Amino acid sequence: MEIFIFIGLGVGLVLALVGFFGRCRACGSWGHAFNPGHVADIPDGKAFVVCKRCGDRQHKGEVSSDGSVVWMSGGSGQFHEDGSYTGDSGTFADGGGDAGGGGE
Ligand SMILES: [Zn+2]
Repeated sequence: MEIFIFIGLGVGLVLALVGFFGRCRACGSWGHAFNPGHVADIPDGKAFVVCKRCGDRQHKGEVSSDGSVVWMSGGSGQFHEDGSYTGDSGTFADGGGDAGGGGE
């Protein structure tokens, strides 16, 4: 079934693109695209994505005084008092529409 090869290639390509564009600018770690850390500077109203490998911070969102954050790239999340983070859609929006239309 060649279709699985194409699906595999498609997934691989998407992952490569995500990794390429999401890689850490400081150390080049592709893992940063898939497993970033999140920190908030609530007094400053800034939310950062942090490289877990080198610790590089990038200002990627706005956080309000209650800890809720809106990411510039789409999505939102919540910082808790203990510094942990939960998000509902990560750091990149994933379109979401997979309603399999007509496949020609
Ligand atoms: Zn890094």
